[in-house]
Amino acid sequence: MSTPFWAPPPERYPGSLPARCDVLVIGGGIAGTSLLWHLAHRRIDAVLVERQHVAWGASGRNAGFLLAGVASSYAEAVRLYGREKAREVWEITNENHDRMVEAARGQDVGHRRRGSAVLPSDQEERALLVESEQLLREDGFIAHWDGRRLVNPRDGEIDPAAMVAALARQARAGVIREGVSVTALRPRANEVVVTAGDAECEAGVVILATNGYTSQLVPEVKIQPTRAQMLATAPSSRRHVDMPVYSHHGYRYWRQLPTGEVLIGGWRDTTLETEKTFDDEPTPEIQSLLERAVRGLGTEAEITHRWAGTMGFTESGLPMAGPLEGMKNVYICAGFTGHGMGFAFMTAMQVAEMI
Ligand SMILES: Cc1cc2nc3c(=O)[nH]c(=O)nc-3n(C[C@H](O)[C@H](O)[C@H](O)COP(=O)(O)OP(=O)(O)OC[C@H]3O[C@@H](n4cnc5c(N)ncnc54)[C@H](O)[C@@H]3O)c2cc1C
Repeated sequence: MSTPFWAPPPERYPGSLPARCDVLVIGGGIAGTSLLWHLAHRRIDAVLVERQHVAWGASGRNAGFLLAGVASSYAEAVRLYGREKAREVWEITNENHDRMVEAARGQDVGHRRRGSAVLPSDQEERALLVESEQLLREDGFIAHWDGRRLVNPRDGEIDPAAMVAALARQARAGVIREGVSVTALRPRANEVVVTAGDAECEAGVVILATNGYTSQLVPEVKIQPTRAQMLATAPSSRRHVDMPVYSHHGYRYWRQLPTGEVLIGGWRDTTLETEKTFDDEPTPEIQSLLERAVRGLGTEAEITHRWAGTMGFTESGLPMAGPLEGMKNVYICAGFTGHGMGFAFMTAMQVAEMI
């Protein structure tokens, strides 16, 4: 059974599909609630529908790392996207960190900025990280190769479910409607007809904030559902981890909370094909690797939570933000490729500006 470590938002927002609305946001994760926040600040009326509850998806199940950039190192990103684009991505994600935390307006979202460390798995990754330090510095970012790992002092960590809850709480009453599962979208003249069970809504604009689940609704969208697994321990009185650590090209990660719990996740690189799935149950194979790794960090504390979540991967490694080709008045804000906490607030701002 999947038992996420993070407590779900305490508020419930029961509701139904409206008959009409200007903007309908589908999905109540960090992307959907960020969209609602940005649209409200632009005085655009929007309704958000979520089939389970706010922060039910990957946003309530992730590691809570707030990292600059994409999964690849800066050196790889420069090769992949070009220097200017890579710099732009790092700038946007740094801005995402600041602006998203600011948007919580002082609510406790477990934010800390102790930096992050990227630990190489082999000589090849080490060379990429050493090169990344150099390139990052040349481009005006702070990064430090300490002889063993690349430290990014500006990075941080958060309780992701609390962050989503903090944004949701700022929405006007009645705007968030949980328990509404959208089953179909049909563009018609100047509106989109949205179906959820027997109900229909005529929406001026629809925004898909459905990340890993997007292809269930619009199969043409190329976002690969991808499972990621984690576990958490009971509090340990010792410090095992000084800051969030990211390793094996981002496939493995761990952190320790101020209260002592160790959270560890990833190891998808050991079985890539089986993890291309909508199934959000943890598997014995990956869980035993996580367990071995957490013991390797030196904690004997009991394992209290094991869970998995569905991420949405794009071919480019960058989010999809903007109008959806071939579907008039339908926009997308999804495909965060395992980095939605680092991207979604700013991606949502870009999409809100287009509406
Ligand atoms: C184990 C794990 C660890 C991760 N670690 C990190 C990390 O440390 N840092 C980081 O930045 N990112 C991390 N990620 C990725 C991050 O969680 C995601 O990128 C991010 O949460 C995506 O947010 P979202 O709002 O786009 O999608 P989601 O949070 O998945 O929300 C989508 C919502 O849409 C709803 N929905 C889907 N279809 C429908 C429908 N038809 N009708 C109504 N509602 C629908 C779903 O119920 C869901 O709640 C991790 C992910 C996982 C699984």
